[in-house]
Amino acid sequence: MKAEIISVGTELLLGNILNTNAKFLSEKLAEMGIDVYYQTTVGDNENRILETTINALKRADILIFSGGLGPTEDDCTKEAVCRAINKKMYLDEKILKSINDFFIDRIMPESNKKQAYVPEGSRILNNDFGTAPGFYIEEDKKILVLLPGPPVELIPMFNNYAIPMLKLQSNLIIKSRIIRTIGVGESLLEEKIADLIHEQTNPTLATYAGRGQVDIRLTAKASSIEAANELLNTMQIELDKRIKEYIYSYNNETIEEVIFKMLNERKLKIGFCESCTAGLITSRIASIPGASRVLERSYITYSNLSKIEEANVSQETLNNYGAVSEETAVEMAKGLLNNSPIDISVSVTGIAGPSGETKDKTVGLAYICLATKERHIVIKNNFNGSRETNRQRFANSAFNLIRK
Ligand code: ATP
Ligand code: MG
Repeated sequence: MKAEIISVGTELLLGNILNTNAKFLSEKLAEMGIDVYYQTTVGDNENRILETTINALKRADILIFSGGLGPTEDDCTKEAVCRAINKKMYLDEKILKSINDFFIDRIMPESNKKQAYVPEGSRILNNDFGTAPGFYIEEDKKILVLLPGPPVELIPMFNNYAIPMLKLQSNLIIKSRIIRTIGVGESLLEEKIADLIHEQTNPTLATYAGRGQVDIRLTAKASSIEAANELLNTMQIELDKRIKEYIYSYNNETIEEVIFKMLNERKLKIGFCESCTAGLITSRIASIPGASRVLERSYITYSNLSKIEEANVSQETLNNYGAVSEETAVEMAKGLLNNSPIDISVSVTGIAGPSGETKDKTVGLAYICLATKERHIVIKNNFNGSRETNRQRFANSAFNLIRK
């Protein structure tokens, strides 16, 4: 089954409102195993809605319309659709009464009468939150569903009345799984799974980069949840063979959630000594409910003086190697570790940019040290993003170090 979503509204074309209805409808249709091949947006113009409908009928089995069912002159979706499929409209007294009732103690404006006109042969979808009813029309092996534009009306109408009718049309379900990676760029990752991307059919496989991380979305289509899970599991095994070292979650968790869980399970306390990230890492961990079980304390040591006073970094180290150096990172982590009842200490010192570059230290350079009572390890980052991207990437890099 192929569907097309037709969003009606000049305000959508002008960019005045975001088309959240199309996003909602696409997600719901995907869950039902109905493929959406086109999302079309058209203004409040009867001839252009007519033309759009005729085109969509050529390439889709199901047309879902959003908007243009209201009482005003520019609302003309119903009229255009009826012209496209050669249907007349009749005045439905029951709907007229329910619209009347909607106005309780006010008089119904004459224009609202327009909403009581029903396309011949259509089934009415109740509007529990407004006046305009929706319609479900089956015509010549095609299905046309007309929904009102306001999301508060469209969402319940679609969920409660349209989905049960559409479900009878499709016996496939679609299931997605998001696999998250860290510490690898999108192009390198794609190279490592190029064969899987090339051969993909079911499940399909797509990569999305953002926040300095790359997600892989797997989408399987099958006749049951179990069969879909089986397809996803098989693909997951193939991904593990190629990129397991970068994967930190198979079910859409964030890196901070994964770190929190890991520390919590092992009953480990952590602290951060942050220079250029200035609390970002701590804040990301603190956004997880229950963070106090793992997060003990952090220092923000932005200046050299604070590195000396809070983290006991020596003046000599700062003079000899500079604030952004492996030596300073190690002393920051060890200083915090020695001062606090924690098991793991992580420090970050770097140059977020755009200024602060010297001839041997460029923007995007950072040293991250993880220290425990037994040992310490330092990694060096060399990123080349904006200030904000670099800071987020330094934080990701610190989380990736803890994960390992
Ligand atoms: P009304 O009776 O409110 O006129 P309608 O079915 O005629 O309903 P529209 O006139 O097209 O719908 O849109 C009404 C309002 O609904 C818009 O001003 C907007 O706020 C919201 N809306 C319409 N279409 C969308 C959409 N695609 N995504 C999100 N919001 C929308
Ligand atoms: Mg309207």
